[in-house]
Amino acid sequence: MSKPLTESSISSLKAALRGRLIEPTGQAYDDARKVYNAMIDKKPRLIAQCVDVADVSACVNFARENNLLVAIRSGGHNAGGLGIADDALVIDLAPIKYTCVDPAAQTATVGGGCTWGDVDHATHAFGMAVPSGIISTTGVGGLTLGGGIGHLTRKCGLTIDNLLSVDVVLANGNFVRASADENPDLFWALCGGGGNFGVVTAFTFKLHKIDTVYAGPMLYELSDAVDIMKWYRKFIVNAPDDLNGWFAFLTVPPGPPFPENLHLKKMCGIIWCCTEPQAKAEEIFKPIRAFKKPALDFVGPLPQPALQSMFDPIYPPGLQWYWRADFVNELSDEAIAQHARFARELPTMHSTMHLYPINGAAARVGKTETAWNYRDANWAQVMVGVDPDPANKEKITKWTKDYFDALHPYSAGGAYVNFMMDEGEDRVKATYGENYRRLAEIKAKYDPTNLFRVNQNIKPAGAKRAA
Ligand SMILES: Cc1cc2nc3c(=O)[nH]c(=O)nc-3n(C[C@H](O)[C@H](O)[C@H](O)COP(=O)(O)OP(=O)(O)OC[C@H]3O[C@@H](n4cnc5c(N)ncnc54)[C@H](O)[C@@H]3O)c2cc1C
Repeated sequence: MSKPLTESSISSLKAALRGRLIEPTGQAYDDARKVYNAMIDKKPRLIAQCVDVADVSACVNFARENNLLVAIRSGGHNAGGLGIADDALVIDLAPIKYTCVDPAAQTATVGGGCTWGDVDHATHAFGMAVPSGIISTTGVGGLTLGGGIGHLTRKCGLTIDNLLSVDVVLANGNFVRASADENPDLFWALCGGGGNFGVVTAFTFKLHKIDTVYAGPMLYELSDAVDIMKWYRKFIVNAPDDLNGWFAFLTVPPGPPFPENLHLKKMCGIIWCCTEPQAKAEEIFKPIRAFKKPALDFVGPLPQPALQSMFDPIYPPGLQWYWRADFVNELSDEAIAQHARFARELPTMHSTMHLYPINGAAARVGKTETAWNYRDANWAQVMVGVDPDPANKEKITKWTKDYFDALHPYSAGGAYVNFMMDEGEDRVKATYGENYRRLAEIKAKYDPTNLFRVNQNIKPAGAKRAA
């Protein structure tokens, strides 16, 4: 039986922590419970700002012994706000922030509370990079454990394909290391299985010698979208691995560096990233530039962290976000026609649709080699209704749902877990496909009571119903 949560038990947890334990009163609580997506408004029971493994272990034991829901928070960016939950103990890893680069071994060990901006800052000093996402304020924790898609996916694979080992606090409070050689079942599950298996306090990544990239957006008139998409669907799957390009519908922000004639214009675009030296990159871009002259061509040499943080100013924390996603094998003419229709109806300046290629190096990893199953899909598609004003919540939600409903029939089935909000158990199963059964068995081994269930939840094998 669980013990009631008393003031004395809370005091004992407080005393056991080096980090701060925040209770539901005052400004500190309201600040600490904010996540990136302002549509999420959760009121946890306690927020523990952990500074080390001992703090995390104390929190996990406390939650388990007091039958308290646990939420694990790294960067707080999760689409569905799964770094926080009502009435939960939030294990906030943000203070565990360090990046140790070993230039000789070409590895980086990263604390569980780092953002990708923290990692890029540390690794770029050595002319190296870890493949990650497209916004530097995203947490390393959630992005990595869900897979990790970004500008370097075609060259280096998913973020998990570059993960060498993790330090984990398990549901029983024990600390273990997991890698291909140590607790390999746990490591397999953590490579795509999200926060289901424990609290990761450190990640060790393989580094790539990537310093300057030839990269940036090319934007085209929306009236050209159908032609561009038809060209892009063939071009990108046959492109060299050194070239990545994700497709977007967007509205041009009304300010510099964008030319005034494009301000607030709905457009389509491809955000390129080429890892070849400039002269060779310019050769690779000749057919791209020859196909159709872009209305705006911002592609050129850039330090890698500049590309990684290029969109940060457009998407600060505190906007309203509504997400829907799918994996896509083919972009048929019919699907493209639907895309063009919804692009014309983009409801707000921040709302957008992205198609991220997951071919190239990411597709050369087998479907069962990691928990991340959709290695044979060509794109991860995401439509997001986004706006600063809560009054527009219904408008952005409706556009996203309608857009998703129109495109879902052309999709491959599941969706990238990191782009999903709360879509239920069947959708999670569809996402992991043939890997779900093994994930459920590993969950039963490491977290039999489903202590870690504020996530895209994998039920422990043998569990009869949702915990
Ligand atoms: C603006 C924006 C841009 C994005 N761009 C990309 C992109 O380019 N590529 C991409 O792949 N994804 C992208 N994402 C999605 C992103 O990967 C997910 O939202 C991810 O969950 C964010 O991780 P976080 O640590 O910031 O989230 P949090 O909200 O802190 O955590 C999310 C979940 O991850 C788990 N978790 C986090 N850290 C740990 C840990 N250390 N140990 C155990 N479990 C943990 C927990 O289950 C938690 O519920 C983007 C999201 C946003 C909002």
